[in-house]
Amino acid sequence: MLRYDLHSHSTASDGIVSPAELVRHAAAQGVDVLALTDHDVTTGLAEAELAAEEWAVCLVPGVEISVTWAHQLLHIVGLGIDPGNDGLQQGLAGLRDFRRWRAEEIGRRLEKRGIEGAYAGAQSLATGPSIGRTHFARFLVAQGKARDLQDAFDHYLKRGKPGYVPGQWASLNDAVGWIRAAGGQAVIAHPARYALSAGRFRDLLSEFKEMGGVGLEVISGSHPHGATPALARYAQRFGLLASVGSDYHGPGQSYNELGRLPALPAGCAPVWENWNFPQQPRSAVSQ
Ligand code: AMP
Ligand code: MN
Ligand code: MN
Ligand code: MN
Repeated sequence: MLRYDLHSHSTASDGIVSPAELVRHAAAQGVDVLALTDHDVTTGLAEAELAAEEWAVCLVPGVEISVTWAHQLLHIVGLGIDPGNDGLQQGLAGLRDFRRWRAEEIGRRLEKRGIEGAYAGAQSLATGPSIGRTHFARFLVAQGKARDLQDAFDHYLKRGKPGYVPGQWASLNDAVGWIRAAGGQAVIAHPARYALSAGRFRDLLSEFKEMGGVGLEVISGSHPHGATPALARYAQRFGLLASVGSDYHGPGQSYNELGRLPALPAGCAPVWENWNFPQQPRSAVSQ
């Protein structure tokens, strides 16, 4: 049995470890197959690929795309994408432009609430090309304005709070289209985190499937594992493949440790069922 972790972040977006460190840590955690899925950016993949060869980890090139669907922010993970695909890169570049504008706007809004220098502070923490709310959350914690990341989101950054800036991200159809055009599989990230009624959730799954989406994160480090049985049933009912990912952002960050995930429930068809590995998985080559 190979150990899969198909959702993780590096300093290319809001993780705190470099792509090479992430892969090295994955190897130490016994992960055989790792997907790096940074927010709206793929620039970490080249470094991760080199490290993956060194540490005998199978690296799945990925991305996590920000989507607005039914006034909700959703995340769609692309697995096995070709980062050289022009359509995908143009789409991601547009999202990063929005991220930069949004970051300035978050800074202005926090300033009105008496928090100075938040934009510059977040910017200095965002060493990669994809600046996001997590960088603001870390700044707020460092300034003593919040106890921890969760507290920073709860008081300043989530919907309804002073630093929240609404916006139109990619459409679901565009995100799935970019991923497919780049040869990847589209997967709905951490589905239990969205505030959708059961009816809207079913609408989402059937629209996603019609657009060519193929997978659902049945196991995610960013939602409670208690959600898994119901998600496994949804995946089966809608003919979606099951994915697993920690949503790792680095040591001491929210969410799970890399590679420490329960097994998929029986009856789930894994998203990797038809994957061919270009190199031997770790467990096959070690010892
Ligand atoms: P963004 O894409 O910039 O809007 O930021 C979304 C990211 O913020 C997510 O991927 C998480 O890493 C992080 N995030 C969202 N909500 C929370 C929360 N309640 N606590 C900690 N991190 C969060
Ligand atoms: Mn994140
Ligand atoms: Mn996400
Ligand atoms: Mn994520």
